[in-house]
Amino acid sequence: ATGLIAFLGLGHMGGPMAANLIKAGHDVVGYDPVPAAVEAALAHGIPMASTAHEAAAEAAVVLTMLPSGKHVLDAYRGVDGPGLLSVAGPNTLFLDCSTINVDEAREAAAIAVEAGHRSVDAPVSGGVVGAEAGTLTFMVGALPEDFETVKPILELMGKRIVHCGDHGAGQAAKVCNNMILGVSMIAVAEAFVLGEKLGLTHQALFDVASNASGQCWALTTNCPVPGPVPTSPANRDYQPGFAGALMAKDLRLALNALESTGVAAEMGPLASRIYDAFAAGEGAGRDFSGIITEIRDKSV
Ligand code: NAD
Repeated sequence: ATGLIAFLGLGHMGGPMAANLIKAGHDVVGYDPVPAAVEAALAHGIPMASTAHEAAAEAAVVLTMLPSGKHVLDAYRGVDGPGLLSVAGPNTLFLDCSTINVDEAREAAAIAVEAGHRSVDAPVSGGVVGAEAGTLTFMVGALPEDFETVKPILELMGKRIVHCGDHGAGQAAKVCNNMILGVSMIAVAEAFVLGEKLGLTHQALFDVASNASGQCWALTTNCPVPGPVPTSPANRDYQPGFAGALMAKDLRLALNALESTGVAAEMGPLASRIYDAFAAGEGAGRDFSGIITEIRDKSV
C-alpha cells in the first residue's frame, strides 16, 4: 500500500533487509555503486536500478542504509549535480536507517522537509544476524503521522519498532544506548582481569555479578571470557558479533553528540579513545568484547 521503495545501499545490512521486503511481496528497486553488492542483490531477487536517481524518481519511499552521515547528506543534496531530494516526486518519504550523527540526522530532516518531503531517521540494532532474520530493533525519530507510515514497512525487517520522538530522536536513542554498551563492556572486562589477578574464577565472578548489581548485557549476553555464556563471541576467539570497528564508529558519534551538547561526560569520551585504539589494530574485525585481551596484555 505504501508504493515503491527505493533501497539505496545494499551492503552487509541493506542487502538482507531489502531481501526481507521482497520476500514480503513489497515493490522494491535497489541501487548500490559496488558491483558485488549489485550481484548479491540480484541473486536475492531485488531489481536493481543503474543510478540512485532512477531508483528514487518513481519511489514513494527512499530508504538509505549507508556507511555514514556524509553519504546520506551527499546523496540527498547531490555532489556534482542534483540530489535525490530534487529528483524525487513531491512528498516522498525519506527513510534513513544508517547510523549517523544526531546533528546530521536533524540536518537531513530539515533539508528534506524544506524540499517538500517527509523524513524519518530509523537506525537499527541487531547486526547482520538480525537483518537476515528480520528481527532488528528500529529506533525511530519521526513526526507521528510519518511513524504510522513507516511502521508497517519496518515491521517486515524488524521485531521491535520504537518511536523515540521527532526528527533525530532515533539516532539520539541509538547513540545513548551504544555509549552505555561501550562503557559497560570495558567495566566488565576490567573486572574479569582484576578477578583473575585476585585469584577468582571466571565462573565465580559471573555467578555473583550476573545475579547482583553488576548485572548488564555486556556480562550476561556478551560475556568477554569464554565459559559462562556459551554463545558469547569469547567462545569463538572473538569472531563478531559486534565488530570493534563498528563500536569505535558508534562511540565517535557519541563523542560528537557529547561535544555538541556540552555534557560533562568522562566515561564516554574515554571509551571512545579506548575503542579507537582497539579498532586501529586487529580489533577492527574482532568482537568488541575482545577489548579484554588488550587489558590483560597491558597488565603486568
Ligand atoms: P556496508 O559498508 O556493508 O554497506 C553500505 C553500502 O552502501 C555499501 O554496499 C556501499 O557500496 C553502499 N553505498 C555507498 N554510497 C552509496 C550511495 N550513494 N548510494 C547507494 N549505496 C551506496 O555497511 P553496513 O554494515 O551494511 O552498515 C550500514 C549502516 O548500518 C552503517 O551506518 C552502520 O553503522 C549501520 N549498522 C551496521 C551494523 C552491522 O552490524 N553491520 C549494525 C547496526 C547498524
